[in-house]
Amino acid sequence: MQIRQPIVAVLGHVDSGKTSLLDRIRGTGVQGREAGGITQHIGASFLPTETIKETCGPLYKKLEQSENKVPGILVIDTPGHEVFTNLRSRGGSAADIAVLVVDVNRGFQPQTNESLKILQSRKVPFVVALNKCDQISGWRKSETSFISQAIKEQDASIQADLDQKIYDVVGTLSVLGYQSEAFYRVKDFKSEIAIVPISARSGVGIPELLSVLVGLTQQYLQKRLSQEEKDPRGIVLEVKDEVGLGQTANIILIDGSIKKEDSIVVAKRDGVIVTKPKALLLPKALDEMRDPRDKFKPTPQVDAAAGLKIASPELEGVLPGSTLYVARNDDEVTKYTNLIESEMKSMFVDTETNGIILKCDTIGSLEAIVEMLRRSQVPVAKADIGPVNRRDVIEAKAIKEKDRHLGIVLAFNVKVLPDAKEESEISHIKIFEDKVIYSLIDNYNAWVEEDTAHQEDAIFSELTPVSKFTFLKGMVFRNNNPAVFGIRIDVGTLKHKIPFMNSDGRRIGNIHQLQHDKKTVTSAKTGDEVACSVQDVTIGRQIFEEEVFYTFPPSHEAKQLLNKFMHKLSTEEQEVLNEIVEIQRKKEAAYAY
Ligand code: GDP
Repeated sequence: MQIRQPIVAVLGHVDSGKTSLLDRIRGTGVQGREAGGITQHIGASFLPTETIKETCGPLYKKLEQSENKVPGILVIDTPGHEVFTNLRSRGGSAADIAVLVVDVNRGFQPQTNESLKILQSRKVPFVVALNKCDQISGWRKSETSFISQAIKEQDASIQADLDQKIYDVVGTLSVLGYQSEAFYRVKDFKSEIAIVPISARSGVGIPELLSVLVGLTQQYLQKRLSQEEKDPRGIVLEVKDEVGLGQTANIILIDGSIKKEDSIVVAKRDGVIVTKPKALLLPKALDEMRDPRDKFKPTPQVDAAAGLKIASPELEGVLPGSTLYVARNDDEVTKYTNLIESEMKSMFVDTETNGIILKCDTIGSLEAIVEMLRRSQVPVAKADIGPVNRRDVIEAKAIKEKDRHLGIVLAFNVKVLPDAKEESEISHIKIFEDKVIYSLIDNYNAWVEEDTAHQEDAIFSELTPVSKFTFLKGMVFRNNNPAVFGIRIDVGTLKHKIPFMNSDGRRIGNIHQLQHDKKTVTSAKTGDEVACSVQDVTIGRQIFEEEVFYTFPPSHEAKQLLNKFMHKLSTEEQEVLNEIVEIQRKKEAAYAY
């Protein structure tokens, strides 16, 4: 069975050492003497088996026994989640495996989390490279390039410190739902994520990192990497106008091979194009380059996995992140055209249903965000690429009338056009803007939660409050017209202008006014002693000194309080509400006889 090399991507927080790690991995090849060294591709570097073997030394022995040996690894040159999101493939990822770089002294940082969420949504296996080990205070420099050996050479306190830092990562990953371990303690590489301490600066740990990567791919990714029955296809990473070449697209070829005479089928925003490449290009080696402008050399065929440049005037307007298929006859052209069309349809959401409006900068970010929104059960009415325009806001406005939490726009890494901004201000349509996927979604969710709570507060504050109060002995200020007397609030909050009843459930009337220290107040709470006035009752007839009263919410309000707002009441208020309901129930039962 023919197995291709895995495509490896490097992700992590800014300054964690991603570029240094890539340089170090590529340098490994450059320094490899007799071995073939690395081959520079477009946007990627290829490390052949020979180079890996030389770097890994005795570690490679075990890898060599595998029945599914990979011919090397293809490392994507640009690190970070921005490129990674465009390395998409039918809802999954074009990268087969990833290295998540974490700074040993800083642990998880915002973009580490962002990277992890994207790896999770694309279901990409990964290894954690715990970088900058040489910066652990007290770390002793050693000659070896093997981290296992370097650790043995450290003082016990430094070993303990490293262990602690590894366990911090294990703890963080466990909160996020992953099991992980230092690679030398991993028992099952399928269920545990391996953490490899390294130093991109000194190169220590690179042999172990490479052997874990190769070991994992050989053991678990054979099916993905097998070239049997695979459609030849790639992914567009960048489209640009190159001096002397015209329109070009940088492609990562994922499966199969591409020849110069093949047709390529690729998506534009509004349709599919079929074109024959003017040239397939690879970078020239430094010693072949006579003129710095003359960077590329034409080639008749490229085999996956590889990074190449395709020149063709028709590539203008092709979106980064688009899938590209290689067709050898008309039937294949039709087949791939249909495939791309259905893929585009499922990706660019445009429905009549209620949902949020999403605008993104690239296909990759769009797909990742739609997936994450689906996971958090947020419906999407429209998802597209480009700046937020007035029409987006108007559509959100129509949706808001049906669902106030869905009538919004999420803008990821795109501009909001001035007329859209103006319309959003006039129509009070919220536009959430962000450059970090998870904070875009988190901020939206937080707003929904806050707004729901506000709405609840507003409804709750309109309801008759729950309260129990006592007519104080000797506190009669006026017998009637209106009756004015002193009360003590036993439980809850009493407000003016609300109905109340006695302990038999008979409605007495409304609290007309409340006075505290001779000043009119609108409410009084537990423990307060206040004067209240009530119209149309006479003390000694309908009400009596030392009598206990309750507020009297109408039955639909009592139901709302019971079903929706119990969490807003104190334990004592909950008890009083139950008493009120019980009194009413008894009274109604008595009427029934
Ligand atoms: P990126 O933003 O993730 O690509 O990080 P860089 O590779 O640019 O590294 C950021 C800084 O950390 C640079 O100054 C590097 O020299 C430094 N750095 C990277 N790896 C290591 C390491 O293993 N040890 C030490 N001491 N410094 C490192």
